[in-house]
Amino acid sequence: MQAEILSVGTELLLGEITDTNAQYISARLRDIGVFVYRRETLGDNRARLTEAFREALGRASLVIATGGLGPTDDDITAECLAASLGLSLEFHEGAWEDMLEWFRIRGREPSASDRKQAMIIRGGIPFANKAGTAPGQAIITGGKVACVLPGPPREMVPMFEEHLLPLIRSTFTDLIPLHIKNLRLVGLPESKVGEALRDLMDSPNPTVAPYAGQGQIRIRIAARSEDSSEAGKLVSAVEAEVRKRLGDYIYGEDGDTLESVIGEILSRRGLSLAVAESVTGGLVAHRLTNVPGSSRYFKMGMVAYSPAIKATCLGVPEEAVRKDEGVNRETAASMAAGVRALSGAKIGVATTGFAGPTGGTEREPVGTVFVAVSDDDGTEVERYVYGGSRTAIKEYGAGRALYVLWRRLSKSNRKRRDQAEGVDR
Ligand code: AMP
Ligand code: MG
Repeated sequence: MQAEILSVGTELLLGEITDTNAQYISARLRDIGVFVYRRETLGDNRARLTEAFREALGRASLVIATGGLGPTDDDITAECLAASLGLSLEFHEGAWEDMLEWFRIRGREPSASDRKQAMIIRGGIPFANKAGTAPGQAIITGGKVACVLPGPPREMVPMFEEHLLPLIRSTFTDLIPLHIKNLRLVGLPESKVGEALRDLMDSPNPTVAPYAGQGQIRIRIAARSEDSSEAGKLVSAVEAEVRKRLGDYIYGEDGDTLESVIGEILSRRGLSLAVAESVTGGLVAHRLTNVPGSSRYFKMGMVAYSPAIKATCLGVPEEAVRKDEGVNRETAASMAAGVRALSGAKIGVATTGFAGPTGGTEREPVGTVFVAVSDDDGTEVERYVYGGSRTAIKEYGAGRALYVLWRRLSKSNRKRRDQAEGVDR
């Protein structure tokens, strides 16, 4: 079954916003077994948009447009869809009632132009909008589904999930969904992952594909089969093989993040954590505290930016904070040990480095980041040099600190498991 997506809005063509709607819809359609063959971006232009609907409906069984549903004169998407089908728009009492209810709850009055949003294609199905005023709508014609959804993603997404998805499933009953598993890796370059999985990546079913980004790699394993338990088995077999080859680098799957996995390990083992950051400016603490329930293990975060603060608050020796402006192994190590002592946490994490764009020293150029993790077994420090903008270097540095922390926790996990099982590695 083929689908096409039309993204409508002159702001998209002018490069003012990113088209996240098409990306979201593509990914959700892939999950349920619909193939997106074409995506098109159009401005708010009547002739071109009407023609685009006509052409898309000539090729595909499902056409989804987003944007251009508002009350203003340049919001013409529903009109253009109607015109492409030779149908008229009609005022829809139910859609108008839903909209009035939306205004009533907020203690607001609709304006005259809002009525326009309740115009629904003759024979069409209105989709109520929980997060805004403009309803979406769909029409089933000649076994095909055409639909228009609002532009704002926070309105589009719930409408897609609650209204359009059930309509697609009930109209096209022979869809074969993909069975997908994502494995999340950290600490290996993409080229190494590619080499380790080369033979698996040649297979057509399940497909295996690595995607690199933000210092991590996601391996997507996807299988399609008429029999869903068969698809599950195909994926599991390949997953076991990937784990056998790259298991030490796999920190999680699907929706896991490094910080959520770290949180699980810390909670399970009743450990606590404190962070002292220089170059990352609080990003490590931010990511750790994005995890619900992190107050169970996260004790404190400190941004120790000036050499004097590093020395007085964290006990970093004077010579260390003076050498290369505090961008060195000893500073990172004593920041981690210092914040651990200050907070009473079991584990201390620290970062120091040069985010640029200017500065750095001969020995330690811009992009240099030291990360340190300190616990009862000692302190480990690693040095990296990253390229890119100031924010990129901060983000890579924060990711690296979380990676070194996770690696240390999972190593000690493995050691504890081996001891419990009497294994001698
Ligand atoms: P509209 O439905 O055309 O009034 O869209 C209103 C707003 O929705 C735009 O200004 C954007 O902020 C957002 N928007 C529209 N289309 C998209 C899209 N394809 N991806 C992400 N946001 C969008
Ligand atoms: Mg618009």
